[in-house]
Amino acid sequence: MPIADPVKRQIAVQRRLMFKICMKCGAKNPIDAVKCRKCGSHALRLKNRELGAKK
Ligand SMILES: [Zn+2]
Repeated sequence: MPIADPVKRQIAVQRRLMFKICMKCGAKNPIDAVKCRKCGSHALRLKNRELGAKK
């Protein structure tokens, strides 16, 4: 049990997952971004899916 405090664990999870990846250039964007800050593409996807891929 690395992190006992549920609040801290929640923050840790969010910091790792709560952002969007541009499908065009691969840049990280804020979770509330509507378009990529690097290339301007609207093709953003949430990072959430990759949880558990690597431990
Ligand atoms: Zn981009």
